[in-house]
Amino acid sequence: MIIPYATQSIGEDDITAVVETLKSGMLTTGPKIAEFERELCNATGAKYAVAVANGAAALHLSALTMGIGPGDEVIVPPLTFAASANCVLYCGGTPVFADIDTDTMLLNTEDVRNKITERTKAVLPVHFGGELCDMDALADLTEKHNIALLQDSAHSIGGKIRGKGQGEYPGQQIWSFHAVKTITTGEGGAVTTNNEGIYKTLLHLRTHGITRDPAQYVHEDAGGWYYEMLDLGFNYRLTDMQCALGLSQLKKLPYFAKRRAEITAYYNDSFAGLPIQIQKSPEWSNPVRHLYTIRVNEKNKRREIFDKLRAKNIGVNVHYIPVYWFPYYESLGFKRGLCPVAEDSYERMITLPLYSSMTDEMAEYVVSSVKEVI
Ligand SMILES: *Cc1c(COP(=O)(O)O)cnc(C)c1O
Repeated sequence: MIIPYATQSIGEDDITAVVETLKSGMLTTGPKIAEFERELCNATGAKYAVAVANGAAALHLSALTMGIGPGDEVIVPPLTFAASANCVLYCGGTPVFADIDTDTMLLNTEDVRNKITERTKAVLPVHFGGELCDMDALADLTEKHNIALLQDSAHSIGGKIRGKGQGEYPGQQIWSFHAVKTITTGEGGAVTTNNEGIYKTLLHLRTHGITRDPAQYVHEDAGGWYYEMLDLGFNYRLTDMQCALGLSQLKKLPYFAKRRAEITAYYNDSFAGLPIQIQKSPEWSNPVRHLYTIRVNEKNKRREIFDKLRAKNIGVNVHYIPVYWFPYYESLGFKRGLCPVAEDSYERMITLPLYSSMTDEMAEYVVSSVKEVI
């Protein structure tokens, strides 16, 4: 059996919730969506939530509501899933990569400050691995420069910053419920915000740009069949079956968080003294860890260590290849060397298994294998 780097935890309660929704007669645009959105607000501290088809769709809609367009720059870290930067390109904007901090692997606020120009329209911090960026510093900085703030919270549901929910900060947050993330709807995502205007725009962008709210109509309400298309939107809806699964998963978030914290603490203790670097938790961060990464001291040994761990049936991975190293980004003119700390982290990194259904025996096997191979 292979121990994967991440996997979902699905129980009988989750299965029952989905089956009940299948039997309810409402498979999509039904009541589970608003229910899930309400619970997402509770879990994140935001006033409004809009559930969408996946995290990338949440990023796309957020970039649109921030008004990103040609000539606009958005500051983003390179050590992230490509979708974080792709949403800027979807809108014709330019991603500007700022480096990370080697200890925390999070966006370096000083480097963000250095990369702000008169064209900067937004900053897009990523809560890498579930550790939280310094949102108080980033909120101050973006407010001072009058630019938008979008948190990529795909890894960080349940995490707090100085006791505050990620949704309590200005701007918007995106969430992902892909099968490897801390809570899952199979595929799924959401945008949260405290801004009512942005919330209303997100609601119709999610469903073709269509509204059925007469208060928003430009023309006269012509009858019971009538609706209006106000924007060029998309079909980015999440189904009721998925929202039912999300609701059931959210109930278990405290347990998922506890188990992830136990395994993280065990790994941290076990690896002390080995020639590897671990991701440190900044003092303001109270995380629910999604990923556990180590960085070996010698980058020329990474591949061999990775292969040996795979040979021991440990599904190690690497998060992430720096976004601007991909051929598509190279074709846009991005060159290696832009963010040396992120590149060095990538070249030394191995992602170890971390998920809430991991047993103590599995975690012990991972630790003894890492010690043996290193
Ligand atoms: C998973 C993820 C996303 C969104 O991915 P989807 O698969 O589209 O839900 C965005 N950003 C980061 C950092 C992610 O890990």
